[in-house]
Amino acid sequence: PSGAEPATKIVINLERLQQLPAEKVGPLARYAATIQSQRGDYNGKVLSIRTEDLRSLAIIYDMSPGELTEQLIDWGVLPPEARPAKEE
Ligand code: C2E
Ligand code: C2E
Ligand code: C2E
Repeated sequence: PSGAEPATKIVINLERLQQLPAEKVGPLARYAATIQSQRGDYNGKVLSIRTEDLRSLAIIYDMSPGELTEQLIDWGVLPPEARPAKEE
């Protein structure tokens, strides 16, 4: 399958996230808002999240972490650089 590998460094573009329809990004937007709240981190344009959180989100979206990474790049929520370089 093409490029279905999970992102290595997950830095969510919060401005882009807000522009997308809630029926697409609702669960992700709520997850990001919860992390912001737990950290008290409200002023950023981006939010770094845990690799572990990508796995949890992938379960919510019923995708593999790699497929969710591709979806988030497609939406512009992650930059294309989030796509891990194929090694070997
Ligand atoms: P970086 O990781 O490349 O992040 C660049 C900038 O993106 C940060 O500049 C910050 O403005 C924004 N940013 C990234 N993740 C978040 C986030 O979760 N919340 C918010 N509000 N902003 C975020 P900043 O803060 O001046 O940091 C510059 C560099 O310092 C970072 O580059 C990173 O290399 C280091 N740094 C800052 N905080 C941490 C940290 O908690 N852990 C580690 N390992 N490095 C950090
Ligand atoms: P916690 O998991 O017990 O983490 C306590 C503190 O350890 C965090 O306080 C942070 O200062 C530091 N910490 C833990 N893991 C990392 C890491 O990978 N990178 C960095 N830079 N620091 C880390 P903080 O930020 O005030 O967060 C408070 C609590 O909010 C955390 O307690 C956790 O329960 C939750 N939280 C915050 N951000 C995230 C996240 O991205 N994902 C998840 N699942 N929970 C988060
Ligand atoms: P980072 O701060 O540069 O941390 C990079 C990796 O180092 C983390 O990847 C994690 O594997 C490890 N690490 C750093 N601090 C801790 C810690 O206190 N406890 C443990 N057990 N491991 C730690 P990870 O988890 O994928 O997180 C990626 C980025 O997400 C972190 O980069 C940080 O920018 C952000 N992040 C994750 N959790 C928290 C948190 O609780 N609070 C804050 N403020 N930022 C967090």
